[in-house]
Amino acid sequence: MTAPDDPSRDSAERVAQVVEDSKGRIWATGTRGLSLYDGGHWHRFTTADGLKRNAVSYLVARRDGTLCVSYLDALGASCFAYEREHLQNIDHIDGNRGLVHGRVYFLGEDARGSLWIGTGKGLDVFGSRGHDHFDETDGLPGNDCDATAFLADPNGDVWIGTSTGIGHFAADGYDGPMAPPAVAFVDVRLGESSPPLQAATVASVPSQTATLAARFTAIAFSNEDRIEHEVRLVGLETEWHASEGRQARYSALAPAHYELEVRARVSPGTWGAPARFPFDVRAAWWQTVFAKGAEVLAAALALALFVRWRLRRLRGLNVELEEVVAARTQELSRAQAKVAESEKLSALGRLLAQLSHELNNPVNVIANNVEPMRGYLADLTRAVAELREAAETTDEGRARAAALFEKLELDYVTQDFDAALNVVALASARVRAVHSELRAFMRGGEPERVLGDPTSGLRDTVAMVRRGLPSAVTIREVYEDLPPISFHPGQLDQVFLNLLQNAMHAVGDRGEIVVTASFTDASVEVTIDDTGPGVDIALRERIFEPFFTTKDVGQGTGLGLSICRRIVVEGHGGALDLETSPAGGARFVVRVPRIVS
Ligand code: ADP
Repeated sequence: MTAPDDPSRDSAERVAQVVEDSKGRIWATGTRGLSLYDGGHWHRFTTADGLKRNAVSYLVARRDGTLCVSYLDALGASCFAYEREHLQNIDHIDGNRGLVHGRVYFLGEDARGSLWIGTGKGLDVFGSRGHDHFDETDGLPGNDCDATAFLADPNGDVWIGTSTGIGHFAADGYDGPMAPPAVAFVDVRLGESSPPLQAATVASVPSQTATLAARFTAIAFSNEDRIEHEVRLVGLETEWHASEGRQARYSALAPAHYELEVRARVSPGTWGAPARFPFDVRAAWWQTVFAKGAEVLAAALALALFVRWRLRRLRGLNVELEEVVAARTQELSRAQAKVAESEKLSALGRLLAQLSHELNNPVNVIANNVEPMRGYLADLTRAVAELREAAETTDEGRARAAALFEKLELDYVTQDFDAALNVVALASARVRAVHSELRAFMRGGEPERVLGDPTSGLRDTVAMVRRGLPSAVTIREVYEDLPPISFHPGQLDQVFLNLLQNAMHAVGDRGEIVVTASFTDASVEVTIDDTGPGVDIALRERIFEPFFTTKDVGQGTGLGLSICRRIVVEGHGGALDLETSPAGGARFVVRVPRIVS
């Protein structure tokens, strides 16, 4: 609280002013602090007690018991109360409080309790109503006040001294600072084209047109040129700012509650109470809580829909996946069946190779003997004819020869013998052809292709089959003149033979087989119809599978149709299909594409 040394014995201390306060205490200002003589002791107050600087210059003890002290530097003054040996409620009076200049030459108090501060730039008066500043422009004899040149007359007059003369304030001409001026709004417009509003009304404006334009004025009858206005828009600004031209403008205000505040003062006096204009900027519907809620709701809904969509899609993918797995499993089992089938086929291939070898010799024997037999037959027929001629020289010989010919049907036998030899020759030639194709196939070679009409092979095959037919089964042939196609004669004949044999088996002892050959723009077609029972609808595709047969063991291998289809489809680029015959049985159609010219 106090300096360690006693100011009365401090030779370094330069004392500027000594004052007695209302309680009889002695105060002294000096370059090393503010000193107090109280109760027989000295105390010294410094920056440690709240002063701005230790070097203090002038002092005034005021009637209300408080004191004000000024500084040697241009720092204005500080006022305080002295209680319980401490400086309390210290109030610094400087530029922030409107003091025009900081270097102080006297402090004084008039009879009404106003504080007078003389500076190098005139005189400042702080009263209960506000703050006044005087200088030469107001009639002061000079701006430069002199040290301690102040006198307050108990009648209210005040005398001050400057370096250029003495000034006298008469109590009836000046009774302290005036209250700061009040402010009135002249015109307030909210929005773009609203009519002028009264400051008392709480107005509102939609955010789309949130502009505010206000004009105002301080209510003052003197010092017009020293009146200043400050503005702030509470809700948007916290700091006051000077207003130019006694007006304020704001635009693009966000939805909120606002209050326009305007205050005025006679510079450099204190600011008056602000005039206020409250108003609201209303949110547009899309800025309202409801709209925001709706937005959030919509987003949540969209999310929920997205999640549902994803789930449904995942379920869909799952089903697809299951289908793919099922399809793959089926493919796998089909592939397994194919492996088993190809094993069967290779076993069959080995069997066929052996068979072909075994067949070769007997077939050669038959084929090689047909021609000699035909020669022998011709010789025998000629010999029989000559013998008959010789016998017919007598009546008895003619009668015996006629009886023998009739009994043995020798005319028919010689004729049919020849036909039978033809068929045997044909059949052995066919077997040899099949045999050589089989060998070529087993060696991996391509059987020979020809360009021509397949009908002649078809005719021969039918002729061969016809010989083994039961008497109540007929074969009808209907052939058109076919355009040439490229084909393997042996292979196609094999197909025709297979289909004819199946048809024969289907009709049994009685029925009809119709063989046709015709053509369309695209292909040559051979059909084999029968009056048999036809094929059950459930078996229509299965009959083309290798080893599928409905025949008894030893009667069918189930390979015929699968080989036929392979020959027609893979060997000729055509098609072999089962259709329903108009006669009620089965109709097999062989289609071989025509040559594109
Ligand atoms: P296989 O004749 O040795 O049984 P195929 O492959 O030639 O072998 O014939 C398979 C099956 O097709 C036969 O067992 C039979 O059930 C059926 N099939 C073939 N042709 C006919 C037809 N013309 N009429 C009725 N069923 C037929």
